Amino acid sequence: MNGDSHRGVRDLLGAYALDMLGPDQRAAVSAHLDGCAECRAELDFVAPAAELLPLADPDRLSELPAPPPELGERIVAGVRAEHVPRARGRRARRLLAACAVTLLVGVGAGVVAGHAFFAPEPVPLEGVATTVHEAGVDAEAELIPHTWGVEIRLTGTGFEEGRTYRATLLDETGGEHPAGEFVGVGADPMVCNLNSALLREDAVGFEITDEGGDPVVSSSF
Ligand SMILES: [Zn+2]
Repeated sequence: MNGDSHRGVRDLLGAYALDMLGPDQRAAVSAHLDGCAECRAELDFVAPAAELLPLADPDRLSELPAPPPELGERIVAGVRAEHVPRARGRRARRLLAACAVTLLVGVGAGVVAGHAFFAPEPVPLEGVATTVHEAGVDAEAELIPHTWGVEIRLTGTGFEEGRTYRATLLDETGGEHPAGEFVGVGADPMVCNLNSALLREDAVGFEITDEGGDPVVSSSF
């Protein structure tokens, strides 16, 4: 048994634990494991990642809420934060590789089942109630909680044509965070994406004001 053979087997252990190898590779890895206690120990170390796999059951995918698009990043970041300081060198790298395999299986299962499970769409929209302060204006709003801040998706009619409106997000302490401006288009329906650097957990409302600073639409959430 030479070093190259160990390396080749160890690169495959994640896929082996997940039963993703073809028959030839699987037989080769099994044969090596029979004669190599070191690689068997390595398999015991990476195998727990395979237990994360109920996600790969297509029948269950439709029952699960779509995770936020950054979930994959958070899992990998979490694994790094939790394991790298304690585990050392090659073992830590292999654990990360095994977890990456798990995430890839999640993507593959999502595609097979017709669900974009780890894909960036659908965006999680949060409907919020709006109060209109100006006659003739009609407005609805949804929030999109991004990792970089809140996006307001404003749908409305009756914002006076040619007039500039300003969006502001509010935090718990009453602090105001700019979320952009738009120009009214009158009676035509309008959809505006207004972005702010305030995170969803810190945002409690928003306000659309006219050029005079008077509120036209407001929302508390
Ligand atoms: Zn070995």
